[in-house]
Amino acid sequence: MVDIDRRAELASNLDEVRERIARACSAAGRSVDEVTLVAITKTYPASDVVLLHSLGITDVGENKDQEAGPKAASVRAEGASPRWHFVGQLQRNKARSVVGYADVVESVDSVRLAAALDRAAAELRDAPLDVLVQASLDSSPGRGGAHGDELWEVVDAVAESASLRLRGLMAVAPLGVPPGPAFELLRSFSGRLVAGHPDATVVSAGMSGDLEEAIRHGATHVRIGTSLLGMRNSLR
Ligand SMILES: *Cc1c(COP(=O)(O)O)cnc(C)c1O
Repeated sequence: MVDIDRRAELASNLDEVRERIARACSAAGRSVDEVTLVAITKTYPASDVVLLHSLGITDVGENKDQEAGPKAASVRAEGASPRWHFVGQLQRNKARSVVGYADVVESVDSVRLAAALDRAAAELRDAPLDVLVQASLDSSPGRGGAHGDELWEVVDAVAESASLRLRGLMAVAPLGVPPGPAFELLRSFSGRLVAGHPDATVVSAGMSGDLEEAIRHGATHVRIGTSLLGMRNSLR
């Protein structure tokens, strides 16, 4: 019974989020096919991932290795196989673990992390690992991301890594300011990136509170937690 109620709740939330995405795309003169919804399932159980997958969610994201690894294993044991995105700040000593289940690592923000992921992917995978380079859109260090020249150093390092595939950029909007200018900066970074790497077209930006702004400014992927799954316990 609980499961049926949760399924109905997730289905209704998913309808609302898809509606918001559709409206934002239409307002921006873009096709909904240009925007991929990544469900951020951190703090929620594997059973929610399985339900979301059965409701049509193809991509899910997590931000902590210690939570994501066991959850991905449980979801796989249930016979579901979404694409797993790792979106959190990642220490190099966790690279090997993350490469064991992630299909995409969105939060690569240092040359050293890129090197650790490349080594792990060479060892554990048959095909290169998809990677986004995380850009910082302000100068506060808290939310991760590479700044200025470092961003382009990380881009070069990923592009030169045989076991990584550079797919684009990710960013989290700075706190406490309107996100539009930050997303516009990200769009300008993406233009520069694609000029040198025509396949690296992904722009992962936009969360529950700012997905409309992100889509208006060119996001190809939105990462939605709260609006799909509910408020997270703030202690977690
Ligand atoms: C938690 C998280 C999200 C989702 O945030 P919501 O506001 O709950 O939609 C998106 N991106 C990253 C990197 C996150 O850690």
